[in-house]
Amino acid sequence: MTQIPIRTSTVNMSTGETEKTEVAHMTLLPCDTSKGQCAYCAAVHLPNEPHNAQSLYYQYRIYGERGIWPNWGNAMEHCDGATRQRWKAELVSRGVTIDQLVPRAPAGD
Ligand SMILES: [Zn+2]
Repeated sequence: MTQIPIRTSTVNMSTGETEKTEVAHMTLLPCDTSKGQCAYCAAVHLPNEPHNAQSLYYQYRIYGERGIWPNWGNAMEHCDGATRQRWKAELVSRGVTIDQLVPRAPAGD
């Protein structure tokens, strides 16, 4: 299970001032992998292929684990060079911008 931090604020509607800010957590349950779904993105793909960077499950799982909203670069981190090149070419041909890897958020953020 992955814990996902959710920052909440309580605002006084009369004054507009923030009275309290706190972090709560949401639990992301493991996805069902019994039918071949990837445990990281919940999509069906070969282990050497990128995760589905657009999967909400992937987005929230990586946010909970690393504190970042991942992009296609992150989704390809585990792929070999040839697979990354092939996927980048296909994504770019479809108008997708390939961003640099999103670094880990600083501790405490
Ligand atoms: Zn995946």
